[in-house]
Amino acid sequence: MKIIHISTEFAPIAKAGGLGDVLVGLVRKLTQLGHDVAVILPKYDFISHNLLPHLQIELPSFPCSENGVTYTNRMWSSQVENCRLLLLETDHPKQFFQRGHIYGSEDDTTRFLYFSKACIEYLKFQNKPIDILHLHDWHTATAAVLTKAFHLPVRSVVLSIHNAEYQGRCASWDLDAIGLKGRDYLNPDQMQDDEYPDAINLLKGGIVYADVVNTVSPTYAKEILTPAIGGALSATFRKYKHKISGILNGIDQTIWNPATDKNLIIGYSSQEGPEAILKAKESARNQLCKQFEIDPHPRPWMGAITRIVPQKGPELIEQGLHQTLERGGSFFLLGSSPIPSLQDHFNHLKKKYAGHKNVFLCFEYNEVLAHQLYAALDFLLMPSHFEPCGLSQLIAMRYGTIPIVRKTGGLQDTVFDLENSNTTLGNRNGFVFEKATKADLTNAIQRAMNLFLKNPSEFQAMVQRVMRQDFSWDKPAKKYIELYTATF
Ligand code: ADP
Repeated sequence: MKIIHISTEFAPIAKAGGLGDVLVGLVRKLTQLGHDVAVILPKYDFISHNLLPHLQIELPSFPCSENGVTYTNRMWSSQVENCRLLLLETDHPKQFFQRGHIYGSEDDTTRFLYFSKACIEYLKFQNKPIDILHLHDWHTATAAVLTKAFHLPVRSVVLSIHNAEYQGRCASWDLDAIGLKGRDYLNPDQMQDDEYPDAINLLKGGIVYADVVNTVSPTYAKEILTPAIGGALSATFRKYKHKISGILNGIDQTIWNPATDKNLIIGYSSQEGPEAILKAKESARNQLCKQFEIDPHPRPWMGAITRIVPQKGPELIEQGLHQTLERGGSFFLLGSSPIPSLQDHFNHLKKKYAGHKNVFLCFEYNEVLAHQLYAALDFLLMPSHFEPCGLSQLIAMRYGTIPIVRKTGGLQDTVFDLENSNTTLGNRNGFVFEKATKADLTNAIQRAMNLFLKNPSEFQAMVQRVMRQDFSWDKPAKKYIELYTATF
């Protein structure tokens, strides 16, 4: 099949969260399975050319107009991680992709509408039949609407929703700007927002116009049908239920491989005995202790590696910190918040714990530190209010770190409680709590810490068990192929 992904992220060269990881993992696997796959990405200014081998111009010039003015664009191509990457550069004077970041500009909707339009112009210019045009989240969802409006030779448009909380709202004249008649789309059956009737909802446009829609876990695919998680958009999700399914994400086992991870001093794998794993994880802890003046002794090491946003349960993460310290453990948080008041709150927390040698709060995006922490931690805390899939818990398990999670979305589909689940012991890989309350969280942390402190051999057996699980892209990629072909 000829498959084209249009995305705003691709790890490691342009990653803000899970989407970047998902893209590279899925695309690499689809390529391995023999499909002709390309990814179109904006040519962001922060991407170093060193990370773009065989960079060359694919198409030196093609037009894309916005508000009746035509701008010149060019498409570059590169071969990254065995994947064919196409990078869109534009001469648009607003320098949409020269902002030093992926998201976070005031004109994000304008930037990504232009990107979607320019991708469609490129594909129109190429005029080659495409089997699957695969779009990701609201940023590129409008390419589904454009594909239909401009009669592109595409057999099937697939929209993956990695997080339905982000929907991309704009005015109807923003659609006019990219050549769609905005007013025509401002009605409940097309792209009118289900909550703000004057607004266009770009994710909704993707849901309505894509041939197939999927989310990144089966449970989340069901949850978005409810107002509690799907919000105002849940009515649209229910209307298009027949074309919505859930496919669990995998993780890229080459990027996340404790045996070959260059960020660790001692590599380790599930093939090795408990002694070797213990030694390697201890060496990862020592590595961090030396770097940051941390006391290695208070155990277990509990941590979170996450964006600090309401979805992730920041108040429960803070509770987790208190509960862990009260019980004599150490707590680590790597992650920052795009929400100033929330970041302020955590800054205060950091001040409060300044000088504590068993509290480590680091508010930056740091890929190397993330790798080292996944190896060093004993437990990873993910108390999310909702979670489309979640990659951190999967990565943690690959590094022998036991997840403590709230029962929602992809966390529910991937983590099974050691004591209270309906599955066999071999599949029990973590601690799960139901309600987003201090009581439920405390109970899970207490159970986890009891196992660690009072039953080390069972804890170690669990570490080895979780490391052996298969969270590769092998199965998910096959499910995507089934999804693609089901539409033909
Ligand atoms: P989301 O996509 O909602 O942010 P996921 O769990 O699906 O959450 O994916 C998060 C990804 O981002 C993981 O690969 C995680 O390791 C990484 N990550 C999150 N915060 C940081 C950080 N501060 N530094 C490095 N990596 C981070």
